[in-house]
Amino acid sequence: MKYIGAHVSAAGGVENAPVNAANIGANAFALFTKNQRQWVASPLTKESISLFRNNCERLNFEPHQVLPHDSYLINLGHPEAESLAKSRTAFLDEMHRCELLGLDRLNFHPGSHLHLIDEETCLNTISESINIALSKTKGVTAVIENTAGQGSNLGFTFEQIQKIIQKVDDKSRVGVCIDTCHAYSAGYDLKTEAGFIQTWEKFHQLIGFNYLKGMHLNDTKKEFGSRVDRHELLGKGFLGFEVFERIMADSRFDGIPLILETPDEDAWAGEIVLLKSFIK
Ligand SMILES: [Zn+2]
Ligand SMILES: [Zn+2]
Repeated sequence: MKYIGAHVSAAGGVENAPVNAANIGANAFALFTKNQRQWVASPLTKESISLFRNNCERLNFEPHQVLPHDSYLINLGHPEAESLAKSRTAFLDEMHRCELLGLDRLNFHPGSHLHLIDEETCLNTISESINIALSKTKGVTAVIENTAGQGSNLGFTFEQIQKIIQKVDDKSRVGVCIDTCHAYSAGYDLKTEAGFIQTWEKFHQLIGFNYLKGMHLNDTKKEFGSRVDRHELLGKGFLGFEVFERIMADSRFDGIPLILETPDEDAWAGEIVLLKSFIK
C-alpha cells in the first residue's frame, strides 16, 4: 500500500492537519506540532490532543501514515554546550508532543558542525542527542532526514547517516527519511534508471530498508550535486517525473508516509492524483 500526502498546515491547531490532508485526497501527511520557527511553544491542550486523535481515526490516518517534522532551529550536533542543551531540550519536547498525539515517528535534520568541530565529533554528538531523547520517551522513532549538504549540514551521505545510527543504543527506534531533492542535490543520481538502482543498492548496503520510515517527494530547482536545498514542483525541476514513477512502482516504498514538500500547496491534490496514477 502506498501512503501519499503532503506537509499540510496545522494553523489553528494540530487537529486541523488531518482534515487538511483529507481535503487534498491524501492518505498520509506531515505536520509541525508547534511553530517551526520558534524555540518555545505552549503545551498541546487536552482538547487539541483529543480532537487530533479523533480526526485521525475518523479520516483513517494511522500513526505509520503520519510523519511529523521538528523545528528548523534545532541542531542536535551543535558544537557549543549551551546551544546543544537548548536543542536537546527542544527536541525532547517535540518527541513528547508526538507521544501525546499518539504518533510513532519524528522526522528531523541531523545537525550542523558550523565549521567549529570536525565531522566525526558532530556525528557522535548527534547520536548522543538521539540516545538522550530515546531514553526519556516511549514509542516514538527518531527519523533522520538526509540533507542536501548545504552550509555545514551533515547527513548528506548515506555513510554519515550510517555512522549516526551505529552509535544509537536502541536501533529499534531510529529511522531514516530520504528526501529526493536533497539526495539529488547531494550527488545521488536518482534521475537516471542506472543511478536510481545504484543509489538504492547503496542505501540497502549502508543503511538498510528496514530503517526507511518515510520519504519526501520533491523535485529540485538546483542541478545535480549543487548541495543547495530548493524544492520544486514534481516534474518542473531537474529531476523530472521518472524518479517518482519508479518510486510509485517499487514495493520497497510501501507502507511508509510519502510526503510532498513542493512549493505550491494548491498543486498538492493534483500531484497526489498523478503519483497514484504511477502505482502499478
Ligand atoms: Zn526536512
Ligand atoms: Zn524534506
